[in-house]
Amino acid sequence: MSNSNNWPTWLPLREPLKPLSPYGAPQVAASAQLNTNENPFAPSAALVAAITKRVGEVSATLNRYPDRDAIALRAELAKYITAQTGVSFEVSNLWAANGSNEIIQSIFLAFGRESALGFTPSYSMHPLIAIVTSVNWLDGKRRDDHSLDVDVAAQQVLTGKPTLTFITTPNNPTGSVVKISEIVELAKATASIGGLLVVDEAYAEFSSEISAVTLIAQYPNVIVIRTMSKAFAFAGARLGYLIADPAIIDALQLVRLPYHLSAITQAVAEVALSFADELLAGVDTLIAQREIVQAGLTKLGLNITPSAANFLLFSGFTQPADQLWRKLLDRGILIRDVGLLGQLRVTIGTAAENQAFLSALTEVLAEGDK
Ligand SMILES: *Cc1c(COP(=O)(O)O)cnc(C)c1O
Repeated sequence: MSNSNNWPTWLPLREPLKPLSPYGAPQVAASAQLNTNENPFAPSAALVAAITKRVGEVSATLNRYPDRDAIALRAELAKYITAQTGVSFEVSNLWAANGSNEIIQSIFLAFGRESALGFTPSYSMHPLIAIVTSVNWLDGKRRDDHSLDVDVAAQQVLTGKPTLTFITTPNNPTGSVVKISEIVELAKATASIGGLLVVDEAYAEFSSEISAVTLIAQYPNVIVIRTMSKAFAFAGARLGYLIADPAIIDALQLVRLPYHLSAITQAVAEVALSFADELLAGVDTLIAQREIVQAGLTKLGLNITPSAANFLLFSGFTQPADQLWRKLLDRGILIRDVGLLGQLRVTIGTAAENQAFLSALTEVLAEGDK
């Protein structure tokens, strides 16, 4: 893999890119893939049939460009968010893209002026896209237990004056939530310095916390990011979206590439949204499984950060995290070393995968005397 040491000197690579490596968790074969917070439930036969039928219809029109503004899809997303949160939204409040990563990139392209602030550890794509778009990243601090001290966070907003402040709730990789009352404090702080507050709610459907979309009417500087990759079990289709004040959506249209969202993507996402009830039933199953895995880890004497998402961050083992990770992989269990000292993250899988993970971990801990 390329790195800072071996770029050819003739290559006119932009300076901020030189020290980087391409982002991504190892994609290696394993019998249990519990490393990227994917949903383990494949689409049902009924959903596969509906998608196939729709793709057949759309295929007959692929000589034409897709709807540049994805109006039909955005209307369905607005309906879904309105039903889910009880706050009424329309097409003008929604924007969709190829995964929420493209959404994040568009936010940086439109609003990344002097600097952006986020609180480590959190989703590593936020600082990475900052670097790629030449926006100065301010690395905000959390408490030692990774929880967010909102007063300290608001102070960092006032001092750093970032045009973008990122909050991920439930947070990745910890699974912990930021309460809506705390988000309000940050909405006020960011508004007072003329900045936007970007709330990444990729795991919102797994949490019972009130969504930050409830703040948009009062605080138009709040942007909420969602994705169909996790709760909707649709990571392969690449569909992320955001909910915001119409002025924000208008600004994002300045930086979007024309026809960025293919006709196939728009169509299959609409089909998946019409299966929302079925797909969200899977979320309940995963929450129940999360409790089981948590109990299993506790029984092994490990410490777990309370999680409102589809993964658990655990610690309390004495072997180095990378060694424990490797030994689990040797047993067919792929989890995630998120680069935090003495901690590993496991995605909640099917009941069978979770049991396989717990038994492999039991073996590995016994072997290494913890
Ligand atoms: C998984 C994840 C995403 C989703 O990215 P997509 O590009 O939509 O697949 C976004 N934000 C966070 C915090 C995530 O963990």
